Amino acid sequence: MTSSTTTRSEALFERARAVTPGGVNSPVRAFKSVGGVPRFIREAHGAYLTDMDGTRYVDYIGSWGPMILGHDHPVIREAIATALTGGTSFGAPGEREVELAELVTRLTGAGRVRFVNSGTEATMSALRLARGFTGRKFIVKFRGNYHGHADGLLVEAGSGLLTNASGVLGAAAPSSAGVPEEYASLTLVSEYNDSEALDALMRLRGHEIAAVIFEPVVGNAGVLVPTPDFLAALHRVKASGALLVADEVMTGFRLSLNGATGLLGLEPDLTCWGKIIGGGLPVGAYGGRADVMDFVSPQGPVYQAGTLSGNPLAMAAGLATLRTLEADPGLYERLEAYTAALAAGLRGLATEAGVPLSINRVGSMLTAFHQDVPDGSIRTYVQAARSDTAGFAGWFQGMLSRGVYWAPSQFESIFVSGAHTDRELNVTLEAARAAYGGTP
Ligand code: PLP
Repeated sequence: MTSSTTTRSEALFERARAVTPGGVNSPVRAFKSVGGVPRFIREAHGAYLTDMDGTRYVDYIGSWGPMILGHDHPVIREAIATALTGGTSFGAPGEREVELAELVTRLTGAGRVRFVNSGTEATMSALRLARGFTGRKFIVKFRGNYHGHADGLLVEAGSGLLTNASGVLGAAAPSSAGVPEEYASLTLVSEYNDSEALDALMRLRGHEIAAVIFEPVVGNAGVLVPTPDFLAALHRVKASGALLVADEVMTGFRLSLNGATGLLGLEPDLTCWGKIIGGGLPVGAYGGRADVMDFVSPQGPVYQAGTLSGNPLAMAAGLATLRTLEADPGLYERLEAYTAALAAGLRGLATEAGVPLSINRVGSMLTAFHQDVPDGSIRTYVQAARSDTAGFAGWFQGMLSRGVYWAPSQFESIFVSGAHTDRELNVTLEAARAAYGGTP
């Protein structure tokens, strides 16, 4: 890559670092684990990002999940533009909030839903509700699952926490400075896909546990797929009176219209959403059993509020996105077909080049771990962390220099959108052929 292709991104990164910690507003954007200068993005359309130097990339980030229809989708743009003519925020209820709540409850079977502004707010609020409802203090989460950056959830967490630790495992809980041990001590950690460990924990402490929160398909340690055994153990936690909280911030409306929950036949008490539910604008939500949700203020005693919650532009973008998804059920099949072909292509190219690779995939979420184990065999955070992160970083740079913007961390999922076509698939596989071959 010539230095001229990064000139403006370099200059902006320099300016950004002077005024923003690390130069970015969310850690994984800084390319810390893959090296090099993060591209500053000027605009995005369809399956492409264009950086400040005018270089175009096939985008596999999709803003980390929300852009399932591709960037700048005409229906979403139109919905936001229409909403904009009516004012940007009311601080009073509006019709779109009701419509989106009706749509979400109909698609997911939730009894009630409350809108917030991010996935972090959704999980934080759902856990406060679980504690308020059960009168218990402890929650259980799984190693390498990420549920946003609320204090009690930054314990053995995945996503940027994994990335910035360069894959170092077993970081002592909590996994961030600034989280008092007292908070972290209310979060019990178990291993994902270990049904015996979960059963044992529930036998021992079940009566004290308010909620078990989990990613139904993990995206934040790279993609990890739950085993049937583990799903059964998750359902068993309900017997102790603990609430089962599915974190579908990443998987909701991505893996199906009823997320991973619908795909896997799960019946959580509460579910958290984010990303796609806001169609690219800041929205999160939590919902589920009506008897539990009615504990939320002003109906019930558990306080939760938001100045911008139910924002009319964000509701319009979310409504337009979910309506478009519902009107095009074939979209999920097209995403499946594209991502399956991508997986098969990468598999073949890596084998040809003698690069160890292990692919985990569900629908349009995929991680290609640089590891010499069979596809689909990586089931835990511990196994994921054995990946060759330096090998991944080299491959990532090889892809970027050929116009393909892969997730800049070994421990993240990529996201395919409805705007990805055979053309982008071919560009991607051509780039991958060279990148696996080690051609700079
Ligand atoms: N939960 C999951 C599963 C996520 O993947 C994320 C973010 O990536 C969050 C929660 C936090 O969402 P947000 O970044 O919108 O706060």
